[in-house]
Amino acid sequence: MIRAEIAERGPMRLDRYIALCNAHYYATRDPFGRAGDFVTAPEITQAFGELLGAWCVSVWEGMGRPDPVLLAEAGPGRGTLMADALRLADRVAPGFAAAARVHLIETSPVLRAAQQARLGGRVAAWHDDIATLPEGPLLLVANEFLDALPVRQILHDGRERAVGCEGERLVWTTLPAPGEPPGERGEAACAWVAALAARIARGGGAALIIDYGHEGGATDTLQAVRGHAPADPLAAPGETDLTAHVDFAAVAAVSRAAGAAVHGPVPQGAFLRALGLPERTAVLCRAARPDTARQLQAAARRLMDADAMGLVFKALALAAPGLPAPPGFVP
Ligand code: SAH
Repeated sequence: MIRAEIAERGPMRLDRYIALCNAHYYATRDPFGRAGDFVTAPEITQAFGELLGAWCVSVWEGMGRPDPVLLAEAGPGRGTLMADALRLADRVAPGFAAAARVHLIETSPVLRAAQQARLGGRVAAWHDDIATLPEGPLLLVANEFLDALPVRQILHDGRERAVGCEGERLVWTTLPAPGEPPGERGEAACAWVAALAARIARGGGAALIIDYGHEGGATDTLQAVRGHAPADPLAAPGETDLTAHVDFAAVAAVSRAAGAAVHGPVPQGAFLRALGLPERTAVLCRAARPDTARQLQAAARRLMDADAMGLVFKALALAAPGLPAPPGFVP
């Protein structure tokens, strides 16, 4: 389908290629876990979703405990993070759990089914996009969501990176210079976050974005992953996971411009340590069998260690102006 479009219409801009590939990729599989292509934080330890649930409870208290409050997640994968967050809230903050209306933003029918199986009656509604979320105070979490959105790349000579074809094979090519400075541009992520920030500025609330990323100036962070190994982004379109690092400087700038207060980004390791990941892990380990306890400790180290996920992953919070600094971002 992608090759046919290129053969018919000529080279395809990189962002359209990524959008078509990822739409097919996520619509046709559950990519998580050992048998899949990659593993995410909520899939390696329940403590991750629990701590994010506690983060939401704390921000909700700072908002003056609105009831109802929208509890939304963008790109919820298997629903694991939300299940862990709700279990924590049910136990420690039943008032929040009762006030929360769970809304999931997810385009993949396969993953919507997995979320339904995991969360069942707790989900008020699914959405294709942030635009259809009901109005009102909002708490939103997004882990490894923005990295799945398409990027453009303007090369050093000013030309734009594109995908062409030679016979059956896809090849890198370029399109004429669009007259923009060189670099990688996460326009889709910025548009998405700008809409989120405008909503938060208008209706109240906060959002927590966690992803791997940088703070501006990247030229090429496109990655393809299949079966836990790097792959050629052009070799099997729609069958590999295509991601790009999030430009947190650009995301923060559009959020401020839309009227939200911005906290961070801070490295994931520091963020999770401030939320109490070591302590939560120790509590879980006391009730666990020795092999499970070792796995929980290893997972916590993986999320926090500088040479694993602790530095390249970052946390950024958007909040309605006037709210207290959220947990993990207090100076
Ligand atoms: N947050 C989960 C999953 C991350 S994978 C975790 O941490 O495990 C990316 C998720 O975003 C998947 O659920 C995927 O189906 C969804 N997704 C990708 N592109 C999307 C888009 N444009 N709109 C909505 N959801 C999207």
